[in-house]
Amino acid sequence: MSQEVCIDKDYIDSLLQEARSTPQSNIDAALDKAERFEGLNHQEIAALLVTENPDHLKRIFSIAFNIKKHIYGNRIVLFAPLYLSDYCVNRCTYCAFNTSRDYPRHSLTQEQVREEVRILEAMGHKRLALEAGEDNTQCPIEYVVECIHTVYDLKFENGSIRRVNVNIAATTVEHYRKLFEAGIGTYILFQETYHQPTYEAVHIAGPKRDFAYHLTAFDRAHEAGIDDVGGGVLFGLADPLFEVLGLMIHNEHLEERFGVGFHTISVPRLVSSKGVDLGQFPHLVDDATFEKIVAIIRIAVPFTGMILSTRENHAMRKQLLQLGISQISAGSTTDVGGYAKRVQNETLNPQFYVNDGRNALETIRELMDDGYIPSFCTACYRSGRTGDRFMSLAKSGKIRNVCLPNALMTLAEYAEDYGDSAFKQKAAAAIEREISDIAHERIQNITVQNIEKIRHGARDFYI
Ligand code: SAM
Repeated sequence: MSQEVCIDKDYIDSLLQEARSTPQSNIDAALDKAERFEGLNHQEIAALLVTENPDHLKRIFSIAFNIKKHIYGNRIVLFAPLYLSDYCVNRCTYCAFNTSRDYPRHSLTQEQVREEVRILEAMGHKRLALEAGEDNTQCPIEYVVECIHTVYDLKFENGSIRRVNVNIAATTVEHYRKLFEAGIGTYILFQETYHQPTYEAVHIAGPKRDFAYHLTAFDRAHEAGIDDVGGGVLFGLADPLFEVLGLMIHNEHLEERFGVGFHTISVPRLVSSKGVDLGQFPHLVDDATFEKIVAIIRIAVPFTGMILSTRENHAMRKQLLQLGISQISAGSTTDVGGYAKRVQNETLNPQFYVNDGRNALETIRELMDDGYIPSFCTACYRSGRTGDRFMSLAKSGKIRNVCLPNALMTLAEYAEDYGDSAFKQKAAAAIEREISDIAHERIQNITVQNIEKIRHGARDFYI
């Protein structure tokens, strides 16, 4: 069992090279296997990545659609990013927080954190992803931990933020332990690119330039007790086919070493931002390739949640919900203090520009109209279902007895607290439609009773 995650560039290059001569029968067999939710090995993933045969593509999309439907049902989990600090000591060519950009930077005060959270909670959010640049002086781990406590301590009439995920720079076991002790949900870190020469070219200076240190961050997080980790790459930096294989190899390393791979995979795609010239990036990913990649990840690791942000526009978000995405952000800003600034109509200075500018309610309403169940569930880590405990439940299929009731109960809460009468009616109809899908009779009854209690003012039920 390997202790070190190893991304062997030559191995990935040869997989992609050899994949071009994969016999038709092997591709069919790989797709049959995917159809049985068995995932895919490296050779199979590479073969699907390189195929341009329209029949193969059609099947990839249809299997991704079926997996999404079968494993995740109609549920879509919602979250929002909360930017704490844009101080950064790194020179990343794609990022507006690049240390060589001269502009006034900020770390939120605790009062500002509270103000941002008040606004986010008023939008209905219960799950946040904290974001920050890397600067151990202006944004030390103690500050991040203080912000986490501030967020969790805030209680509003309608509830509180119940899950805080964290997306901060790769750090030490000791620092990860502090995040663990603060009760974070998932620790998220994007590898940006698994292609080391590109990694070193786009991270010009700063601690983030160290490829191996960044790549081993999740190993340190696990050592510190964090067993829900979320990976991703920034699509657009290097060959996207190479990146998908890198992600899969990284995932397998975590499975082998810790018994559980990524809890989620995010699929951020490079978008424009201040001081960043997209023309400098020769590997920008077109829409068709992006859709194919999302579908292939979906079928390769069927039980791993997939996250899509507002980097993508409305139409692409709608499309990818069908192909595998199970979690989306809504109503986001990517600026430090951006939610308060938006309320005050102040100019934003974001990390990157978002392409889906709809507010949270518009996004949620459309999910309902499209037959989805917006879910504000935060139950798993609160019930101790993290790491391999979550994954084994997901793989057994029993997770449906947990996720669907929680989604319906949190939707009922959302409708009561944030919906007008039309929304309440839609939510009631959706709950009515879905409740019979809870296979376990006792859990179905509990869910019905709890939803009734929610309508009479009770809150925060979860299984
Ligand atoms: N500073 C931390 C780190 O180094 O990982 C936190 C990450 S940052 C707040 C969140 C993510 O935004 C980055 O990991 C990067 O992938 C993404 N990002 C940065 N610039 C971007 C751009 N121009 N377009 C899309 N995503 C971008």
